Parts: sequence; structure tokens; C-alpha cells
Amino acid sequence: MKQIMDEAAIGRSLRRMSHEIIERNQSLEEVILVGVQTRGEPLARRIQANIAAFEGVTIPVELLDVTFYRDDLSRLQREPLVKNPAFTHELNNKRLVIVDDVLFTGRTVRAAMDALLSNQRPKQIQLAVLIDRGHRELPIRPDFVGKNVPTSQNEQVQVKLQETDGEESVFIQER
Ligand code: 5GP
Ligand code: MG
Repeated sequence: MKQIMDEAAIGRSLRRMSHEIIERNQSLEEVILVGVQTRGEPLARRIQANIAAFEGVTIPVELLDVTFYRDDLSRLQREPLVKNPAFTHELNNKRLVIVDDVLFTGRTVRAAMDALLSNQRPKQIQLAVLIDRGHRELPIRPDFVGKNVPTSQNEQVQVKLQETDGEESVFIQER
């Protein structure tokens, strides 16, 4: 098991990504962060807090609960599905920033985009991930990346956050 980020590195990456989101979106009033549960939620809330501290604007956070048809991480055929999306904000004409911990095949982001586009028309969808571990199976690329981490298929990235795991670090390990 190899540590690739510690608490300070995670904090720095999230602050940089927050600045990049601000830079990319002139009218922050149009922006909504969409956290993919589980760890996308605390990451979206931290970005929300950073942007509030930097710009004095509190951007709304929505949550998406993505489950897997075959809930077994060892199977490559697992197909993500968004569970009962219930948005509390109007998404029409908004710029949505999907926030997740790890981007891998891209299938989770595709499922999230399907849910966000199913009966509303956002102006734009952007993607922010703490870790891009490669191995995409769909034409999806992140707009904001904490760290690019080349991995092999049989490695796994362990993201630990204070809110969900009681500690702060990112590791790579063999499955
Ligand atoms: P994808 O759908 O892109 O294959 O995988 C992305 C989703 O699965 C994300 O929600 C992420 O939390 C989870 N995921 C995929 N690979 C990893 C990994 O190596 N480590 C962790 N922690 N999560 C992963
Ligand atoms: Mg996830």
C-alpha cells in the first residue's frame, strides 16, 4: 500500500480546484455542485466552503446516490444506476459541477449525467474529481482534477476522508 496524498495535499488540491471552478464560471450564481455519494458529498461541501471563503458566494449542493446493478467491485460488468434522484433546486439553465472522489471507467459519471438531463435542461455540465485513475471506457474527461494517478487494472485507490472514514489520505493498493 502506497500513500499518494496526505491531509495537506488533499486540502491544497481542493483549494486549487475551487479556484479553478471560480475562474471557469464567471457567474457563480448559475453554478450548482452535484456530489456523488458517498465521498463526492464531503468533497462537494468542502469545495462549497472554499468558494464561500474565497468569493463570499454559497453555491448550492445537490446529491446523487449511485448504486451498482451488480454490487461487487471485483466484477468489471457492474453498471451504475442513479437511485431516485430528487433535486431540491431547479437545474434548468444552471451550470452543474459533478463532484466525485475517483474517476475510473466513466460509467458512474455517465449515469449521473443521464439523471441530471432526464427532465431538465442544464446549460452545462462540468466534472470535478479528486483522483483520475485512468482506464476510461467512455468519452468522458474531467474539467477539474486533484491528482492524476496512473494505475493498473488490478490496483485500487483508497480515498479516506474525515467525514466518512475518520482520517484523511489517499493510498494505492493491489486488489
Ligand atoms: P467508474 O464508474 O468511473 O468506473 O468509477 C467511478 C466510481 O466508482 C466513483 O464513484 C468512485 O467512488 C468509484 N471508484 C472506482 N474506482 C475506484 C477506486 O479505485 N477507488 C475508489 N475509492 N473508488 C473507486
Ligand atoms: Mg463513488
